[in-house]
Amino acid sequence: MTGTGADIQDIDTTRPHPARVYDWFLGGKDNYPVDERLGRQIAAIDGGAPKAARANRAFMRRTTRALAAEAGIRQFLDIGTGIPTEPNLHQIAQSAAPDARVVYVDNDPIVLAHANALLRGTPEGVTEYVQADARDPRTILEQAARVLDFGRPVALSLIALLHFVADEDGAHELVTTLVEALAPGSALVLSTMTADFEPENVHKGIAMYAAGRVTLVARSHAEVGTFFTGLDLIEPGIVSVADWRPESPSDGPVSLYGGAALKP
Ligand code: SAH
Repeated sequence: MTGTGADIQDIDTTRPHPARVYDWFLGGKDNYPVDERLGRQIAAIDGGAPKAARANRAFMRRTTRALAAEAGIRQFLDIGTGIPTEPNLHQIAQSAAPDARVVYVDNDPIVLAHANALLRGTPEGVTEYVQADARDPRTILEQAARVLDFGRPVALSLIALLHFVADEDGAHELVTTLVEALAPGSALVLSTMTADFEPENVHKGIAMYAAGRVTLVARSHAEVGTFFTGLDLIEPGIVSVADWRPESPSDGPVSLYGGAALKP
């Protein structure tokens, strides 16, 4: 594990943190009363929020499986990985390809505190954790290069991350810097919030996060498309995460767009 030396004392329990609110939506135990309070407030106006979190997790599983099993990718860089929730990305990737190498990145000290659970991978593969901020992509690339060979394809995943980074805070620059570092045959997978399906609920949710001093941005279908500039989207393109190659018919969209694309 590498990073800034953050530890359990750095965990701020006086205000909600995205990783912990998301953990609460998923029924996890690694959250504090302040996170649960915000989670409950949001769930009260938008009963779909926990469902969206579960659908997003399932999108991570299906895209990772597709990239490992169908596209043959053996290296994964997962930024904004979150509090470990089984199965984690390395378990999906290494069940398709036991020699898969995975680097996880998050900037929240609570994720670092739980990172041991992320590091139990196959003996043939490698899993590593880096504590870093997505808005500092060069540091991430430098640290990840100790485990990943950027001369070969890497699947970069930014799953439920970019809605925490506004455009003026460098969302596009971070994606461009990371994608530029990838070899041909690499992939970009991302999901991010949208108000296209349920504008009223999503805008109320954004206001609640803002009251907890968390930035949250919703993006339109066209705006999400700009993150994939220069890449070849794979079927079915950018859709609600619930509708990205669902295993059983989805019961309608959730408020997150997702897509996966290959670098030519
Ligand atoms: N990718 C996981 C978790 C999503 S929750 C999943 O989809 O299931 C979003 C995660 O992004 C949280 O763990 C949060 O701590 C992290 N995050 C938010 N902003 C970040 C930033 N600037 N740099 C790194 N991680 C960030």
